[in-house]
Amino acid sequence: MSRSVPLVPTVTACALALVLTACGGTGGVHGTAGSAGVADPYFPEAGNGGYDVTHYALTLAYTPSTSDTPDTPDTPHTSTPLTGTATITARATQNLSAYDLDLKGMRVNSLTVDGKKASWTRTDQELTVRPPSTIPQGKTFKTTVHYSGTPETITDPDGSEEGWLPTADGALALGEPTGAMGWFPADDHPSDKATYDLTITVPKGLQAVSNGELRTETTTGDGRTTYSWRMTHPMATYLATVAIGHYDITRTTTKNGLPVYTAVDPEETAASRKVLAKIPEIMEWEEYNFGPYPFSSTGAIVDRRGDAGYALETQTRPFFPGAPDTATLVHELAHQWYGDSVTPKTWRDMWLNEGFATYAEWLWAEDHDGDTAQQTFDALYKGTYFDDKSDSDAIWSFPPARPTSAAHISDSPVYERGAMVLHKIRQTVGDARFYDIVQGWAAAHRYGNANTADFTAYVQKMAPGKDFSGIWKDWLYGEGKPARP
Ligand SMILES: [Zn+2]
Repeated sequence: MSRSVPLVPTVTACALALVLTACGGTGGVHGTAGSAGVADPYFPEAGNGGYDVTHYALTLAYTPSTSDTPDTPDTPHTSTPLTGTATITARATQNLSAYDLDLKGMRVNSLTVDGKKASWTRTDQELTVRPPSTIPQGKTFKTTVHYSGTPETITDPDGSEEGWLPTADGALALGEPTGAMGWFPADDHPSDKATYDLTITVPKGLQAVSNGELRTETTTGDGRTTYSWRMTHPMATYLATVAIGHYDITRTTTKNGLPVYTAVDPEETAASRKVLAKIPEIMEWEEYNFGPYPFSSTGAIVDRRGDAGYALETQTRPFFPGAPDTATLVHELAHQWYGDSVTPKTWRDMWLNEGFATYAEWLWAEDHDGDTAQQTFDALYKGTYFDDKSDSDAIWSFPPARPTSAAHISDSPVYERGAMVLHKIRQTVGDARFYDIVQGWAAAHRYGNANTADFTAYVQKMAPGKDFSGIWKDWLYGEGKPARP
């Protein structure tokens, strides 16, 4: 937490006034400031206290630009490639005299709370809002932020890039773990999920793709096009996306009638066609194994972004940095259950995303004439799975449930060793009970958040006669390579 603008004067004056009479403006409620973070073990400033967001309405206009440098809150902007209005509906979880949103870069031009002008200050990623009167606990309120500028690309502790990523013909917004704050003001932590309306206007000839369903597409007099997308199920900020550029669009449906919408960079269309055509088949297989699909559409975004070589499970419409292979497609679609619908409470619980999605790849291979999950597990344990010895050794570098730092939340212990934890559970309970656990877990926390302790308690509850203590101790929380496979 690095807030340098003190809120003390407001609170002190209020505390004094409280001695004499009620305080906090017209409401007569005494309030305190919401915290500037939610104490995430790896990203302590991410998210904010004092409220719970229920809906983001983002109205954006973007004009790609190749020569701009990012604005900072302190330097005047010379151009406005992105202009935005974010209307954030939230419920106060305490009496709020002030509260923070997360926003990196950009300029805030005006801000209102329930239609009334509010003051704000900015320090690093914290946009601190002072409403004209204290917001009482339990009240639903709307913050509207008008902002503009050149959005920042954010570099993670592990060196990967996220936030707003310009491409040759547009831009991509990718948010894991803290990139959402690079393009909209947010309670940017996975623990606060909300529904979204995203409306974006782009220059003539460009397309814009986001999460959920496309509601309208309208062309204005000057040839610009406005795309209006809606995500009707709760979504974590890091899973929000927008992709702007030239795309080949395909629309189809699964056998169950679920809409499939894919957007592919034309240069990747030929290489992507065959694998993306498997989406309906993969979705049916995943529904069979993981239970009912939690959202109301699916698809993919394929775009090229120089060095951003990672795929991301952006909700309903995973992103791929080039034509995906089948395993990666299976992985990102499996995240829709594990990560997107059941979302980690903190970034320490990341293995609950990646262990499941990696194990989905193993299960797919097992069901489609590839190695069995047992063979994959054995190869990892013996060190023959990876060509490179350092990769083989890396999976034992820390326990999946305890990454050593924020720079390591996407390392192989979280993925491969996380999947090995699931395989150990499967060995212990057998296939029938294992799939009950996998499906039951997705159902029990559908659209919600869960952590590692919730998971281990759930597994134990589902298999009361079994002893998992060795698995938790050696495989989930234990340092180094377990003595026995
Ligand atoms: Zn993943």
